[in-house]
This record gives sequence, C-alpha cells and structure tokens, in this order.
Amino acid sequence: MEQNGIAGVKLRPVENGTACQFMTPGGCSVYEDRPTACRYYPVALLSMRKQDEYTDTQSYALVKEEHCLGHNEPREITIDAYRREQGLEEYDELARGWRQLILKKKSSGPAVGKPSKRSLQLYFMVCYDLDTFRSFVMSEGFTELYELPADETSKIFADDTALMLFGFRFLRQVLFGENSITLKQAAAEKRRGRVHEKSQQFENEAREKRATEQDDMYGDSLG
Ligand code: SF4
Repeated sequence: MEQNGIAGVKLRPVENGTACQFMTPGGCSVYEDRPTACRYYPVALLSMRKQDEYTDTQSYALVKEEHCLGHNEPREITIDAYRREQGLEEYDELARGWRQLILKKKSSGPAVGKPSKRSLQLYFMVCYDLDTFRSFVMSEGFTELYELPADETSKIFADDTALMLFGFRFLRQVLFGENSITLKQAAAEKRRGRVHEKSQQFENEAREKRATEQDDMYGDSLG
C-alpha cells in the first residue's frame, strides 16, 4: 500500500470477506494489544499540521455506523476520559514521532520531492521491521557513520520502544535531511567525497554521451 509517496501496511481481512482476522465469536482475540485505530473507534482522530508550524493539532469526530451497538448505550463520556479509558494517551505519545513524519511529508508537497527508493526501504524497515533495524544500527557501516553516545546505544539495543523512537529521529534525517543524528566527521567527509566523485562521474558520462551524439549527428549529415 502506498499513500502520500510513502509505503504503509494494511491488515489483511479474512479470506473472502472484509472482517478483521482477529475477530472471534468471543470478540477481539488481540484486545490487550489492539491497534490505535481500534482503540479510538467509533471516534475518528484528525491530525493536522500547518506547513509553518512544528506541531500538529488534533480534533475528533464521532463515526456513526449501524453495526456499532455502543451508540445505543445510555452513557456519556468526554473525549479525554475516553482516551484515558482506552489507553490512548500512551499510544498517541509513542506514535507522535511517526505522525510528524507523515504530516511533514503531506504538508511539504512536491518541494521536498519523491523520496529515493533507498530512503523508502529505510522508512519501511524502521516502521515495520524493528529486528532488522536493530541489526542495521548495530552494523559496522552504521557505527562508522554516526556518532552515538554509548549510553544511548545500549538503551536502543535493549529496549524496543527506545529503538522505535530513535528510528523516527533517523527517518527525519533520511527523508528530510534534518541533522537529527550527528555524523562522524571522517565518515561525513568520506561520504561527501563519494558524492562528489559520483557527480563527477555522471557529468563525465553525460559529456561523453553528448559528444557521441554530436559525432553521430555530424556523421549522418556528412554521410
Ligand atoms: S478491535 Fe481491531 S484488532 Fe480487534 S478484532 Fe476489532 S478490528 Fe480487529
């Protein structure tokens, strides 16, 4: 699934149907770990972020669908109390970094351009494959490139939540060029050298191609 130029995942429904595959006759089989959207339902969360503002604002709407029998209950509750009851304060806080990425991508428009294939692969790994991201952060290539304090490194290796939050910082760097993680100086210079070398190579190739095209053109007109 792809939306706003970045990849996402969607839970597959039951075979030949639209129902969630975690639904059982006794109710939700993953209730304790149900996703944020399920915790909110039948409330819809709308997050908006203006181009010139750093933080997003939230508003809520009530979704009325016939199959939701909760609407028939004689009970009133404020949105704050409902969010507390559903454990949403913690979920929203932890997902904030991810939401900021999506909103920034949406609000930045074409000026930022389509992310490269490599940055999309990194985005997918950080958001949906934390084990691979941990191995990536532990790899020689990563540690050669980035300056990370030892206490932070041991924290993100041991704790999934810390790793996920670090991943959002890393993605701000990868997708939007923010300097959120310090590059080691030698590695940064080496990288700049490689980029320069590559751009020289492209320029030389383009020059050679133009020269060959001109030769062909003159060859044709003389021939
Ligand atoms: S609460 Fe969410 S995860 Fe659980 S059965 Fe319903 S849709 Fe599926």
